[in-house]
Amino acid sequence: MSDPLLLALLVAAIAIGWLLGRWESGRGRHRPRPEMPSGTLPKDYFVGLNYLLNEQPDRAIETFTQALEVNSDTVETHIALGNLYRSRGEADRAVRIHQNLLARPALTNAQSGQVQLELSRDFLTLGLLDRAERLLLSLQKSQVDDAQKLAAKRLLVDLFEREKEWAQALDTAQPQLVRQDPDIRRAAAHWHCELASKHRIESSPSLARKALKQALHTDERCVRANWMLGQLEWDIGHYRDAARCWQRIPDQDPSFTAIVLEPLRNAYRLLDDEDGWWQFLEKQLQYDPQTSVVMMAADTLRHRQGTEIACAFVSDQLRDHPSLRGVDYLMDLYLDDSDPAERDRLELLKQHTRQLLSTRPRHRCQRCGFGAEQLHWQCPRCRSWGTSKPVTGLEGE
Ligand SMILES: [Zn+2]
Repeated sequence: MSDPLLLALLVAAIAIGWLLGRWESGRGRHRPRPEMPSGTLPKDYFVGLNYLLNEQPDRAIETFTQALEVNSDTVETHIALGNLYRSRGEADRAVRIHQNLLARPALTNAQSGQVQLELSRDFLTLGLLDRAERLLLSLQKSQVDDAQKLAAKRLLVDLFEREKEWAQALDTAQPQLVRQDPDIRRAAAHWHCELASKHRIESSPSLARKALKQALHTDERCVRANWMLGQLEWDIGHYRDAARCWQRIPDQDPSFTAIVLEPLRNAYRLLDDEDGWWQFLEKQLQYDPQTSVVMMAADTLRHRQGTEIACAFVSDQLRDHPSLRGVDYLMDLYLDDSDPAERDRLELLKQHTRQLLSTRPRHRCQRCGFGAEQLHWQCPRCRSWGTSKPVTGLEGE
């Protein structure tokens, strides 16, 4: 059993022991029981503790649950036991405990609200989204305090996001959660982008554009909104406007520069504006010479002034900003210009850099570390929005 889980169970066991002892001693004042002296713990408690110490958490939790009568003093402990089941991946058992609690008429409004919140979390964990939604919507209208209503709202937002109901997620999160929580604000901008993407597929560019403006209004650092605005301009052949949108991205977040280089180069080619392209590259080289920018600039130099100049340029840049991808690219340039004997040696070296690069993801989530070859706007592992970025530095771009 893992240490945190064992610790949680031990804490729960101590709490149960204390409650049982208190309950028994309280009862003992009015009606002493000959079979159990007042202030002592029932046998079930020790049986449960024994299971726990023998690393049999399932049987321990089962025994504790049976030993503990539901009353106003023990509601919190029952809720905690249910949560413990859920955290162990047994949300169906958690549902049984929480539903059993909810059936008690003696619960206060606050206790009932707390149990309903936990039951909604159980349903979400089990993927029973309809049941979670019904419970959370009714909780919002019931007599619970503002903190519980806000917690219900957060869970509803999470639920609508899982269902890809972007408009409903936005309706629920706005304005309170979007204003208060930076993570939800960033996510909300991406929900606008998701809606824009749908409008783009349905050939409604004006609606898509409106949704993207709302995304930027919600979060001015939303790189994806400018990325998609550029795509909309590209769709109708407005390459200058597309380039303008994409050029804003390095200013919003320089770690996303790598994603705009290829489309920007294509736009400038179609505009037949080599100078504009070179000006953009020079600006990037001055402020943030990432390897992908160096490679693009070297490509342009090679066309204009030949391979030798391009090699010297890359070599200079690598001295100040070393990177594996840069070394690999430099070898490509050398290969272009090499005699057969040199070529064999370079090919051998290149095999090694290729191998090293193939084991490194091009994008990594800044929140959970999930690595992937392609860029995910929402991390598949931790579900955070906008936290996956191109890898930069020694091992990256
Ligand atoms: Zn992540």
